[in-house]
Amino acid sequence: MTAQSIETIEPPAFMAAGQRHVAVVPDTGAILPKDTYTYVVPQHLAPLAVPGARVMAPFGAREVIGYVLGDDDAFAGGEARALSAVLDERPILDDAALQLARWIAARYCAPIGEVIRAMLPKGVRAARPGGRKRGPRTTSAAVEAARAGHDAVAEAAPALTVAQQAAAEPMLEAVASRRHRRVLLHGVTGAGKTEVYLVAIAAALAAGRQAIVMVPEIALTPQTIRRFAARFPGRIAVLHSALTDSERAREWRRIREGELDVVVGSRSAVFAPLPRLGIIVVDEEDASAYKQDRIPRYHAVDVAMERGRLEDVPVLLGSATPRVETYYAAHTGGFELVTLSERITGRPLPPIEVVDLREELRAGNRSPLSLDLDRALRECHEGGGQSILFLNRRGTATVVVCRACGEAVSCDSCSVSLVYHAQRRRCDCHYCGRSRPLPDICPSCGSAAIRGLGMGTERLEVEVHQRFPSLRLLRMDRDTTASRDAYFSIYDRFARHDADCLIGTQMVAKGWDLGNVRLVGIVNADVALHFPDYRSGESTFSLLTQVAGRAGRGDEPARVLLQTYSPQHYAVRHATTHDYLGFAREEIRVRRALHFPPYSRMVLCTVNHQQDARAEAAARQAVAEVSGKLGAGSGLDVLGPTPAFLHRLRGEYRWQFTVRGEVIERAFPLLPRGRGWSIDVDPGT
Ligand code: ADP
Ligand code: ZN
Ligand code: ZN
Repeated sequence: MTAQSIETIEPPAFMAAGQRHVAVVPDTGAILPKDTYTYVVPQHLAPLAVPGARVMAPFGAREVIGYVLGDDDAFAGGEARALSAVLDERPILDDAALQLARWIAARYCAPIGEVIRAMLPKGVRAARPGGRKRGPRTTSAAVEAARAGHDAVAEAAPALTVAQQAAAEPMLEAVASRRHRRVLLHGVTGAGKTEVYLVAIAAALAAGRQAIVMVPEIALTPQTIRRFAARFPGRIAVLHSALTDSERAREWRRIREGELDVVVGSRSAVFAPLPRLGIIVVDEEDASAYKQDRIPRYHAVDVAMERGRLEDVPVLLGSATPRVETYYAAHTGGFELVTLSERITGRPLPPIEVVDLREELRAGNRSPLSLDLDRALRECHEGGGQSILFLNRRGTATVVVCRACGEAVSCDSCSVSLVYHAQRRRCDCHYCGRSRPLPDICPSCGSAAIRGLGMGTERLEVEVHQRFPSLRLLRMDRDTTASRDAYFSIYDRFARHDADCLIGTQMVAKGWDLGNVRLVGIVNADVALHFPDYRSGESTFSLLTQVAGRAGRGDEPARVLLQTYSPQHYAVRHATTHDYLGFAREEIRVRRALHFPPYSRMVLCTVNHQQDARAEAAARQAVAEVSGKLGAGSGLDVLGPTPAFLHRLRGEYRWQFTVRGEVIERAFPLLPRGRGWSIDVDPGT
């Protein structure tokens, strides 16, 4: 359609009656006082100024890009300025995308403008019409891996086992009948879940439909990408956080044009504009990375389910350790549950041996490696195996303290202690990124008696090297993987057996399927256990189960050694027996007793201010107002205010309160939205 032909289109009949007004969301990059603004549609733009269209509109003294939400029938008259232009011939958001945007805005109490900004890649939102800019084609390793996704000989699917077939059945039916359906695939690590996803996706493709596969960023390994690329050569798009804006925009356009049929990606892949969506798969549905940690604070799994409902498409969630909320839903009718309770080809799950670190201490061993783990490492490597040592903390010392006055070296802008990184001889704040050289003397009292306590991966690497000088070591954590290519390269070197032992944080815990890993050492199972969060038990159980699941995927037997100070804790206890059900039952009891999700929902409101007293006062006032207006009998509790767990962050003090109950939406209109406030619905899940 050219500009010429647009002019000649008959205006719709209602145009004659008067001017048409539309509600537009301006994309100014700032949160605005109102969600939408009203504009007049000039006659010549009428055919294109449809819902979802990207427009240019005067805003204050500027011209800004905006999105048409729909006709503004409620417009009561008064001054409205005219749209200047419509930027695309085809609306950038189709009906389903617009509905999804509205749903997200309502569910997460978020400005719809921010929702739309999250849904569209920057390079797409900001692009001027008149063709795509063909910038230099830099290509990241992940895109390369998918492209390799053309030369590779297509790989045939193995025959499914009987159990896999049964697990795939409900999805295959839903794909064939093109109905929305929600299935939870609960399968132990190495059960062959990915193979079930692949078969369901293949069925969708064979029916002329397309697929979204969501994988947590840290499980988006070259192996995962290659596995999908080999099964669906030339049809894969890979979306992850390290793509450049132009790469992302290019992939988005190709997806929208229907050139690519399977989108594999992290959280934001849920918004991929596939024109013929036929199935959504979410692997590791319990991964915390699916929750966006800035506005709009959406949970991508919930968004996936809503998108599935809107487009009448089935949604398959998979995990070895589903969130108890999800598992509960599978038992109360929200999902169908299918189970793979054994590893493929009957391989046993690796037994987990518990090492009680309290006894180790009593025996005088202060090293991070217990005698048992030391011996197991030796034996593993003598036999030609590879090992993974898991410690979910980076750095050398997790705190630097003064032995004279007892103060810890802490961040100037946050209420946390700094982590010492010996390689760079610097102390870093892991929350705001500030960094300072290791002080020679105590910043508080001037004493020289300062020392590091607690251990991170950086120190573990040094210790292991001292003890096993001939071992070829690799370390994977956020410090060694600043670029995604570094992540890929470490992964590839370990997969090729260019290294014997890999030391890593949770980055090594998920998704990996490496046959020669015969030992997993969990150096400290308790790192996340005492975190002040109602999900600390669940996240500990899930992390331990996942990391243990990296062992024993080949033909050789494997061992897992789990070191802990809390062997009696239920999350640790059930993890050591691979007992998800036992864990889930106990966790559900705790949640019910304490009235936590799934027995309630929560919304967390946090206010920031440079002065502590002002933040506290604002929080107190908000609590008084919200409680007052809700009144008795609302079924909602207002808890707080309290200082946030990180009371001070990036130089600002934070206070918070929580509204908890069944229908938390009742509180939404009452929540404070002014400056400094942030609202988090279903926080942290
Ligand atoms: P999960 O996703 O549950 O961890 P995977 O799908 O990665 O498990 O399967 C584990 C391993 O078993 C992979 O190496 C995979 O190629 C292999 N596998 C899966 N299903 C089959 C099958 N039906 N026949 C043979 N090998 C299979
Ligand atoms: Zn001191
Ligand atoms: Zn800081």
